[in-house]
Amino acid sequence: MKLKVGVFKFTSCSGCQVELIRMNEQLPELLNLVEFKYWAMASSKLEDGPYDLALVEGAISTPECIEEVKAIREKSRVLVALGDCAVTGGVPSIRNWMSQREAETIVYPKPGCIRSTRVYGIDEYVKVDYYLKGCPPRLENILEVFKAVILGVKPRLRQHPVCVECKFYENECLLTTYKQPCMGPVTAAGCGAICPNVGRVCEGCYGPMSDPNIASMVERLKEIGLSDDEILRKFRKYAGMSKLYREVAKL
Ligand code: SF4
Ligand code: SF4
Ligand code: SF4
Repeated sequence: MKLKVGVFKFTSCSGCQVELIRMNEQLPELLNLVEFKYWAMASSKLEDGPYDLALVEGAISTPECIEEVKAIREKSRVLVALGDCAVTGGVPSIRNWMSQREAETIVYPKPGCIRSTRVYGIDEYVKVDYYLKGCPPRLENILEVFKAVILGVKPRLRQHPVCVECKFYENECLLTTYKQPCMGPVTAAGCGAICPNVGRVCEGCYGPMSDPNIASMVERLKEIGLSDDEILRKFRKYAGMSKLYREVAKL
């Protein structure tokens, strides 16, 4: 029997779903094994659950989102947070660093009818089985989750830092050699170190690795000349609401 899959979107830019759509090469084979029952970006035929696998993109930012994500959880055997917005609140969570009303007033000319909440990843409200980190997660990691759920095993998602992948490519270290503010030491791997590979610092878009040494990262950023405010922004940019970064993100 085919795996019944639902793909859902909350507060997000849809970039993670675009990454999912990139699987056109693997799609014919995948469609022998899975059936997309609900994926509004890809099809107007939307079927209700139950789902074997729910991929949930986006942060939770309104009272309606809270109820909807709970309903999706009830209908889904395996629920996956697809991308940083769903994992930690991601880029939309930047608005948490100002008052709710201030944020609403900046965005909407008449914010009176807007009912928003603080922005959180989905596990603030429901149990999440697997986290696909990244902004967006790389397609091969998404496919790893499909494979694991089809086989009934745990997906092998990397927990080590970007630096490990960076070293596979024998890059000169931007942080230690060139004193550039690379977040690789505290950031989860999975992207293939694509930024350092082209001489750009890691901005931390996969969020924190499993056990980041945050105090040491802050020290190193100070040593190379970043101000407290610049350091704060580094940690807030993608994952300020993650449990691992919340303390430092409030500096
Ligand atoms: S994680 Fe990044 S790419 Fe994915 S929806 Fe959020 S902002 Fe877009
Ligand atoms: S360049 Fe960045 S990712 Fe690569 S080893 Fe240095 S700190 Fe780590
Ligand atoms: S190197 Fe860092 S910023 Fe670049 S894609 Fe990977 S995790 Fe994201």
